[in-house]
Amino acid sequence: MAERYAEKMNHIEKSIKLVKSKLKCEVKHNICDETSFSYDFDQGIHIISTPTKSNTDEFWNLLFLHELIHALHKEILPIKFSENPTNVPIGTNREVANYFNTVKDWFVLGNLLEYCHEETKFYIEKEVEEFLRKVTINMDVKDRLIVGMLSAEAKLILDKNYFINNEQEVLSVRNELLKIDPKLPSVENLTTSVNGLFDIFGYFKLSISTKEQDDWEVNQINELPKKESNIKNLFKKFS
Ligand SMILES: [Zn+2]
Repeated sequence: MAERYAEKMNHIEKSIKLVKSKLKCEVKHNICDETSFSYDFDQGIHIISTPTKSNTDEFWNLLFLHELIHALHKEILPIKFSENPTNVPIGTNREVANYFNTVKDWFVLGNLLEYCHEETKFYIEKEVEEFLRKVTINMDVKDRLIVGMLSAEAKLILDKNYFINNEQEVLSVRNELLKIDPKLPSVENLTTSVNGLFDIFGYFKLSISTKEQDDWEVNQINELPKKESNIKNLFKKFS
């Protein structure tokens, strides 16, 4: 009976169950406008926020699985996969986090492909379609990182070359991510990839601090642009 029930379970739901079974810490699920993952160090619990599950969102389970994989990475990978560097120039935390989150999501993709290859492929196909409909040239760094990652995913999973005219930075983000196998989440790969992304935009430089026990140190090498993106809500699914 139990086996028959399991057979009927959707493949993604089975993967959600599998990843949950691997987690040692409790998962708390909050309803929120945006999807995100965080870890409560005081209580030792994973906190996953998602919008309400609706029947019209066919990818809700996959996005929940994405966040669960962040939780798994928190438990099984080195601490550098769960924390962004604290040694960053004042007021740049969010900007710096965008680069780290891009690479961390690249490694989440590695597990998504392992657990749900076909479903992830279908999701990327849909995301590329959505992107093609809505993209504009007024993108900020975060948009370019996300679009570059989507472009890398399209190449890796669909074997499709997707570029935007005159968007050299998007192309460079794509190529930088494709240098690293998303199924090999090492601190070395994470550091190399973030530094590669930093180099593309030229605002930050990452180094290993000799003062604070091999902690990361981010230095700002150029002034940040003031222009804001006008497609802020386009890629809210990514986190
Ligand atoms: Zn993520």
